[in-house]
Amino acid sequence: MRPFIYERVNTVADALHAGALRESPPGSAAEATPEFLAGGTTLIDLMKLDVMRPARVVDINALGRTAVGHITESPNGLRLGALARMSDAASHPVVRRNYPMVAQSLELAASAQLRNMATLAGNVLQRTRCSYFRDVSYSNCNKRIPGSGCAALEGVNRQHAVLGTSGNCIATYPGDFAQALIALDAQVELSSPEGAHLIPFASLHRAPGDTPHIETILSPGELITAFELPGGAWMRRSVYLKIRDRDSYEFALASAAVALDLEHGAVRAARIALGGVATVPWRAREAEAALVGQPFDQAAAEAAADVAFGAAKVREHNAFKVALGKRTLVRALQQAAAMEV
Ligand code: SF4
Repeated sequence: MRPFIYERVNTVADALHAGALRESPPGSAAEATPEFLAGGTTLIDLMKLDVMRPARVVDINALGRTAVGHITESPNGLRLGALARMSDAASHPVVRRNYPMVAQSLELAASAQLRNMATLAGNVLQRTRCSYFRDVSYSNCNKRIPGSGCAALEGVNRQHAVLGTSGNCIATYPGDFAQALIALDAQVELSSPEGAHLIPFASLHRAPGDTPHIETILSPGELITAFELPGGAWMRRSVYLKIRDRDSYEFALASAAVALDLEHGAVRAARIALGGVATVPWRAREAEAALVGQPFDQAAAEAAADVAFGAAKVREHNAFKVALGKRTLVRALQQAAAMEV
């Protein structure tokens, strides 16, 4: 691991002040802002692999003792502090009762030890597991070295995305919790020296396009301080289903976050997000529209799944994800429809 400056802060204001500094890592002429350290389960990993090389790391864990670490219910819904630990959010009684999809997405991620360390904001900002990105012996990775090419296009791409890809990057967004947030129309609170403001969670991540190294709309030094989820009784009819190579401590090959509002067996509203198959948290709005107004049955679910993957682009090793993703979505919809709420 390369040398870096370690700094600990106790307030959001101090974090934003420290986060605005620009300096060059040893051996590099390029200036960059510091990296915030929370659970560290992504950052430290990538620093050890030499993929991320911050000159300064700002430890914000002390902010977890403030509102930034708390989970609170309000008449409008639920506020999840950005530094709440994944395990605390997954076991919170309000999350479990009113947002089962959220609790499941957190419980099915990583390992118990990692869930005890990792924070909610760190989880949504985790970086791809593309092996060419994480192995610096490969020189062609546009995400790690802009303009260098993409080894995965003609390489081993079984884990890679089929939705939201570009000719510059096909890396899969690896998270689970983000699928629940985007499905439920969550908002994310961003804090900067100018103050705090909310944006739709769906705006946070950027598809790779021509600039796969730019993964979010966060400005340098900007900090995620909370997630806000709307209330609504029908969110209790929600499911997160994750399919993976092994049943524990593994990333999704395909996943589906679904919530259904049913009335006399017909779909009044639907929310669908897909994981393991796309470059960013992926909301399947056309599939939702295909369900609305239909009596819910297997044929309706299969038709929606066909719509969800209508734009899929496959590579040599990942074509199986289209069929797997469709089956995953159909099963998740059937499980949600069968729930007693
Ligand atoms: Fe890099 Fe993206 Fe290509 Fe992976 S898929 S090698 S992250 S550019």
